Amino acid sequence: MTNQCSEYVCRGAWSFRSQQCSRKGSVLRDGKWYCKTHDPVERKRKGEEELQKHREKYDKRHRQHERVIAMEKYFKGVPTEKITGTYCVVKSEEK
Ligand SMILES: [Zn+2]
Repeated sequence: MTNQCSEYVCRGAWSFRSQQCSRKGSVLRDGKWYCKTHDPVERKRKGEEELQKHREKYDKRHRQHERVIAMEKYFKGVPTEKITGTYCVVKSEEK
């Protein structure tokens, strides 16, 4: 058994295509290894920060309105740790 990071990463923003992260895991969470970037605890925090940032933007700039609504709709039901800074939602379990 290796300790390769078990997270799947997207190749680009808004992409559904994903591949397993090639980095070495440095933290063990729920029996799975994750590299520093994909540590679920850290990503959850970042994901929440990211959504909060966009909510703030929406308050300030109404032309962002539709984008934010779309994002919130898109992220509905998606665990925040699956949301990355590039708005990539990993749906590796599907299909
Ligand atoms: Zn990783």
